[in-house]
Amino acid sequence: MYPRKPAQFLSIDGTTIVDGCLAEPDRYRVLYDRDETNPIIGRGSGLSYVAASMGKDVLSIGMRHFDRLLSFDTETGIVEAEAGISLGALLRFLLPRGFMLAVMPGHPNISLGGCIAADVHGKNPVRDGTFRDHVLSLDLWHPRSGLRRGGPGSVIFDASCGGYGLTGIIVSARVRVRRVEGVKARLNLTPVKSFDEAHEILQQRAASADLIYSWHDWTKPNRTSGFVVEGAVLEEQGTAAFTRTAALQPRRGFPLMNRVTIPLFNAAYRFKILRQNGAVLPLPEILFPLAGMGFYFRLYGNGLLEHQVLVPHDRWSAYWPKVAGLLSAYGVHPVVSSLKLFAGPRKGISFAGDGVSLTINLVNDRRGREFLEALDLLDCDTGGVANPIKDSRLGKQAFGRQAPMLMQFMEQRAALDPNGQFRSCMSERLGL
Ligand SMILES: Cc1cc2nc3c(=O)[nH]c(=O)nc-3n(C[C@H](O)[C@H](O)[C@H](O)COP(=O)(O)OP(=O)(O)OC[C@H]3O[C@@H](n4cnc5c(N)ncnc54)[C@H](O)[C@@H]3O)c2cc1C
Repeated sequence: MYPRKPAQFLSIDGTTIVDGCLAEPDRYRVLYDRDETNPIIGRGSGLSYVAASMGKDVLSIGMRHFDRLLSFDTETGIVEAEAGISLGALLRFLLPRGFMLAVMPGHPNISLGGCIAADVHGKNPVRDGTFRDHVLSLDLWHPRSGLRRGGPGSVIFDASCGGYGLTGIIVSARVRVRRVEGVKARLNLTPVKSFDEAHEILQQRAASADLIYSWHDWTKPNRTSGFVVEGAVLEEQGTAAFTRTAALQPRRGFPLMNRVTIPLFNAAYRFKILRQNGAVLPLPEILFPLAGMGFYFRLYGNGLLEHQVLVPHDRWSAYWPKVAGLLSAYGVHPVVSSLKLFAGPRKGISFAGDGVSLTINLVNDRRGREFLEALDLLDCDTGGVANPIKDSRLGKQAFGRQAPMLMQFMEQRAALDPNGQFRSCMSERLGL
C-alpha cells in the first residue's frame, strides 16, 4: 500500500473541488507497489484545466520525484526521461544544445507524463502533430501486471497516449526531439477582420510556420476581428531566459470578469499583443505566455469554462455564425477566442484530427453552462470534437457521440486495467 495523506484538490479551471488522497513516492521501490487495490490515478503537475489527475476517494500518485533525464543522444535526437520531468526542465537542457520538443503546451511546469497521457498539442499541430507522434516508447506500471514497455502499434502505447492516465502509471518515455536553429523567434501579427479571414491565412501558412494561431476579440457576437500570430525561429544563439516560471496554483479569487470588464480585458490584450508585432523574444516566453499569469485564472472568481472544439474545415464558415447566434441568445461573452489548425487522423480518444480548433474561455456561471450545453449539440451535428481535458462539464453523451474510437479504447483499457482501478473525476464524468 502506498504511504498516503488525505488531500483536497482543486482543478486549475477552478470548477471542481474533490477530496482524495495523495501519495508521492520518491523511489522505485515505493512506486512499484503490487499490493495497492484501491482506486488510483497518475498525477503529473496537476495543471490540467479539468480534474483529470484526482478523484473522489481516489489515491493520486504524484510523479514529481521522478524527474530525471536519463539519456540524450545528439546524433539521433532521442531523449529518455522520467515522466515527472517538466517541459521547462527539458527545454533548459535541450535549447543550449540546439534541440527542443516538437510539441509543447503552454506552461513550463507541465510534466512529460501529462503530455503523453493527454496527447497534448503545441502551437502548430498542422506541422507538428500531437505529442504522441514524437514518443518512441513508454514504460507503464500497473499494480497487476508490473512494468511493461510499449512502442507505437502496441496496446500499451496506443491506449496510454491520450488515455488520460487510465491504463496505468507512465514511469518514463523515449521521445524524439527536434533540431532548432536558435533560441529566439520573431513574432509577426497579421490583422484579420473575421474568423473566416483568419482561417484562410492559417490554411495558407500553417504547413511551414514554426508557430501559428489566431486571437480574436469576440465580445460582440457578430464581430470577430483579431490577429494571426506567427512566429519564426531565428538563427540566433545565446541563452533563452526563463523570465516568468512562477508555479501555477489553482486558487479561486474575487470574480472580476463580467460583461463590463470582458471588453476591457480584450482591448488590453489587443494592445499587449500589438506591441509584440515584429518583436524578437526568447522561445520560452513565446511558448509559455501564461507562465507568470496565475492571476488570470483567479479573475474568473468561481472558475472558468474552457471549450475547445475541432471542426472540419468545410463546415467552419457555417459553424461559427451559429455559435455567434448562441452567444447572443444566451447573453454570453467569451473572454478569450483563438483558432489553431490541426491535420491528420483521429487518434484513439485524444483531441486530434483534421480541421480548425476554436478555443473559448467563459465565466463559470449558469448562462455559460447553458450556452455550452447548446453548443455540445451544435458540435455533434457539425461533426465537431470537443477536448475532454479542457472542458470540465463535457458529459459522456456528447463525448461518446464525438469519439468514434471509444469502443476500441475501452477494449484496450480493459486489457490493461481489467478491474478499472485507475479512475478520476474526468473518467467518471465521461463514463470511461
Ligand atoms: C497555462 C496552461 C496552458 C496549456 N496549454 C495547452 C496547450 O497549448 N495544448 C494542450 O494540449 N494542453 C494545454 N494545457 C493542458 C495541459 O497541457 C494538459 O492538461 C497536461 O496533461 C497537463 O500535464 P500535467 O503534468 O499537469 O498533468 P496532470 O494535470 O497532473 O494530469 C493530466 C492527465 O495525465 C495523467 N497523467 C499525468 N502524469 C501521468 C503519469 N506519469 N502516468 C500516467 N498518467 C499520468 C493524469 O492522470 C491526467 O489524466 C495547458 C494547461 C495550462 C494550465
